Amino acid sequence: MTIEMKYRLTGEPSVLEIAGRKVGGGQFALIAGPCTVESREQVLETAVAVRDAGATMFRGGAYKPRTSPYAFQGLGQAGLLMLEEVRAETGLPIVTEVMDVRDLDQVLDVADVIQIGARNMQNFSLLIEVGRSGRPALLKRGLSSTLEELLMSAEYILNEGNEAVILCERGIRTFETAYRFTLDLGGVPVLKELSHLPVMVDPSHAAGRRELVTPLSLAAAAVGADGIIVEVHPRPEEAVCDGLQSLVADQFEEYAQRVRAAAALAGNVLAGALL
Ligand code: PEP
Ligand code: MN
Repeated sequence: MTIEMKYRLTGEPSVLEIAGRKVGGGQFALIAGPCTVESREQVLETAVAVRDAGATMFRGGAYKPRTSPYAFQGLGQAGLLMLEEVRAETGLPIVTEVMDVRDLDQVLDVADVIQIGARNMQNFSLLIEVGRSGRPALLKRGLSSTLEELLMSAEYILNEGNEAVILCERGIRTFETAYRFTLDLGGVPVLKELSHLPVMVDPSHAAGRRELVTPLSLAAAAVGADGIIVEVHPRPEEAVCDGLQSLVADQFEEYAQRVRAAAALAGNVLAGALL
């Protein structure tokens, strides 16, 4: 590291508390749900399935960063209201993305954890506002960002007095085309060496297809990640977005059991599971 990092701590790892669930310091989070909120029924069905199978938080985007402006952009505020219902019905904390500072207040009404997507990792004004909000933030690594750049972005949030930051490796762009992105699992122990912050892994966006999601998840848990954020859909073939890489909801219980066993290899316990 060549750049000064004020918040580089070498002491004990941070343990965050998110809606009563601990994350980090041996407590492993399994965050599951669809890429995007499509309907009330879709999110509720998915949330009940993943909760009953052991997920500890629910993910789902109401604001979606899409490569094409002609692709589905998310349900926006209507989607946020559906997520609010998911939390009320299932008790699962909600992880959802904010793309634009103009939507932050609305997202804060619903999100237990604010996701900052890979494409916004260096949207510094957004980082500062999320920092000021004080809400736990899941900061995803940019598609072509170094680990140092990820840590510098985390510093923007920490620097506003918000210490509840989770780093997330989600695959980076390399010359390899066999999968959507290259999951940089070596980044997990390196980030944990350089920072006290919890480090999670998103196997779904790296894999790009379902078959790879379980092996990448097991590797992530075994390498010492503090959690996984994974896409799950009851009927992936009908998904509006990222169906090919979504796990099938009715197979999630077996997946969660295998992830739990892999996390245990690294000394981590799946926290807040209902099983
Ligand atoms: C997502 O989590 O749905 C997403 C778009 O992730 P990323 O920002 O990592 O591409
Ligand atoms: Mn997605």
